[in-house]
Amino acid sequence: QSTRTPLMAGNWKMNLNHLEAIAHVQKLAFALTDKDYDAVEVAVLVPYTDLRSVQTLVDGDKLKIKYGAQDLSAQDSGAYTGEISGSMLSKLKCAYVAIGHSERRQYHGEDEAVVNAKVKAAYRHGLTPILCVGEGLDIRKAGEQVPYTLAQLDGALKDITAEQAATIVIAYEPVWAIGTGEVATPEDAQEVCGAIRGRLAELYDQELADAVRIQYGGSVKSGNVAAIMAQPDVDGALVGGAALDAEEFVRIVRFRD
Ligand code: PEP
Repeated sequence: QSTRTPLMAGNWKMNLNHLEAIAHVQKLAFALTDKDYDAVEVAVLVPYTDLRSVQTLVDGDKLKIKYGAQDLSAQDSGAYTGEISGSMLSKLKCAYVAIGHSERRQYHGEDEAVVNAKVKAAYRHGLTPILCVGEGLDIRKAGEQVPYTLAQLDGALKDITAEQAATIVIAYEPVWAIGTGEVATPEDAQEVCGAIRGRLAELYDQELADAVRIQYGGSVKSGNVAAIMAQPDVDGALVGGAALDAEEFVRIVRFRD
């Protein structure tokens, strides 16, 4: 774990208009110091309409905060009304893009083929995917969380080269823990994150698997993040609700304190 820099990413979902986004990033900028950035990579995944505002702040003040979008189109351009392409995101200097978030899978019917096409689209445009996988409550109750999540991983990584996969971030997000206040135990998180790393070693090789960052997501807060981060295969958190409060997000970034 020591060679992997933890990634703390805030997923704002459909919250914070561009004025609120500016105020929020300013709060992060004033609070975070080089000590924080040396220890942890910090990212915000913001609504498309906030990206330009966030870019202006980050570029203008040379902030070390990374930013990105919560989804992208599988297509590069054309007659896809309402869609946003990877090239549009890379023009705004996004570093990351979330792909396959459970809310996209649930409300927009994204299946493994769509998720795989979006991972490929991200790589075509120099964006790093934060690939979200994880089981629902019925699967968890049946004890099938590991095979279910690994099948999602296999589908998402179909035809993705080792060179590409070496930079991916995987977010293990059990759906029953997202926005519910019901956090997975550290052992639950470790079980699946460890299995994901094992599968990466099978699909590619051990060196690649050891380098890829695997986040946990699902009701992470300052009060539970340290125990989760203590697990050997957990390399960061994807944070929804708690990331909307800048002070709370800073406490999460400082999970070691
Ligand atoms: C998420 O949106 O990815 C998430 C984990 O949300 P929350 O932290 O609110 O459970």
